[in-house]
Amino acid sequence: MPLSPALPARASQGEGAGGFRDALPFRLRRKYTVAQAEACGYNRRATVTKQFQAIIFDMDGVVVDSEPLHERAFREVLEEIGYARSHGIDFAAYYGKSDLVVWRDFIARHRPPHSLAELLARKEEKFAALLQGEEPIFKGLPELLEKLSPGYALALASGSRHPTINAVLDLRGLRRFFRAVVSSEDVEHGKPAPDIFLRAAELLAIPPNVCCVIEDSAAGVEAGLAAGMTVIAITNSLPIEKLARATKVVRTYGEIESLLLPSSALRAPSPPRRGRGTG
Ligand SMILES: [Mg+2]
Repeated sequence: MPLSPALPARASQGEGAGGFRDALPFRLRRKYTVAQAEACGYNRRATVTKQFQAIIFDMDGVVVDSEPLHERAFREVLEEIGYARSHGIDFAAYYGKSDLVVWRDFIARHRPPHSLAELLARKEEKFAALLQGEEPIFKGLPELLEKLSPGYALALASGSRHPTINAVLDLRGLRRFFRAVVSSEDVEHGKPAPDIFLRAAELLAIPPNVCCVIEDSAAGVEAGLAAGMTVIAITNSLPIEKLARATKVVRTYGEIESLLLPSSALRAPSPPRRGRGTG
């Protein structure tokens, strides 16, 4: 169960950040749900023009185009264990959630002779092999990290387990950009609960209200909002209407750069001045 219930859509339309939860000592904030905080006058909407100290990236569907590879890895394991056509898994429904959730649901439905640990390991092994072969890093993402890293503390907060995260961070030197890395293994509740983002902020020693989350899934958007953070959603995996609760929805990494580094847009070459007589 998520720690915090989803808020009605209108709740994302308030003004300003701060308030009830921000006034609490950091460790106490997680004891209050967003709904409780809102009832006490807390309003979590922040504009993307505010000053952030940290940017927390989701991994699957944000750093790497891995959802298709996850599905292929799952399907290969399911075929090997005799459930090629009878697994009954709607993979799209699990975007943003961990392998653990998929396999627990599968085991609850089919009661296979295989252990949870075995299924997790087999799928992770297949995924790592697919990942190394294809290196599906989103175009423009490494450049964005390069530009953001001097001015922001960057973290990775992923529903995947550490073996999968490590396989991704080994690609093209991505590891060097992230000061903190959090897996769903490190927290009690996965997305859409806020735990994983709150843990990332805690590791960075930066308050949640000055953290900006980059997400591609509805569960991830809810997790970021429940953590009291600004959420930019990118339409890599889902259409705009499925991400509408995010603070801002974008289609490209260039748009994220413009939102988080507005001065870079101002540095665009300006037309030559006329009439000054300087040659
Ligand atoms: Mg994702």
